[in-house]
Amino acid sequence: MYQLNSIKSLKDNYIWILSNSYNQAVIIDPGEAGPVINYINQYKLFPLGILLTHHHIDHTGGVCELKAQYQHIDIYGPSEIDLPINYLINQDKVCIGNFSFDVIAIPGHTLGHLAYYCYLYLFSFRLVAEGFLRVLINKC
Ligand SMILES: [Zn+2]
Repeated sequence: MYQLNSIKSLKDNYIWILSNSYNQAVIIDPGEAGPVINYINQYKLFPLGILLTHHHIDHTGGVCELKAQYQHIDIYGPSEIDLPINYLINQDKVCIGNFSFDVIAIPGHTLGHLAYYCYLYLFSFRLVAEGFLRVLINKC
């Protein structure tokens, strides 16, 4: 069973932390590192990986500091992100510990935007509505 928590970040963002019963955690879109490190220390979590939905700095700004702090973690995201990470494409499947994510391309907010589905949870930023809206606008 997974537990999902959010950390308020920067001005109006959230960083998502998905954890399991072994206190292992996957971090989604860390726009900054400090609040994530504090959260991990507070709840005694063991971070296994980071998933990134798109390249904007308010979703990736904490990656380098987190990788320096937790050198064992694997980082995944779309190829539009100019960082040394594992690149994913539509319909990939990512397994991080016992977490399993289906990768869904949802271009719109950015061209390379990815969403991640892990049973019961869809991580996508504010994507679906905005992405579809842009597609509709571009078609009009
Ligand atoms: Zn963005």
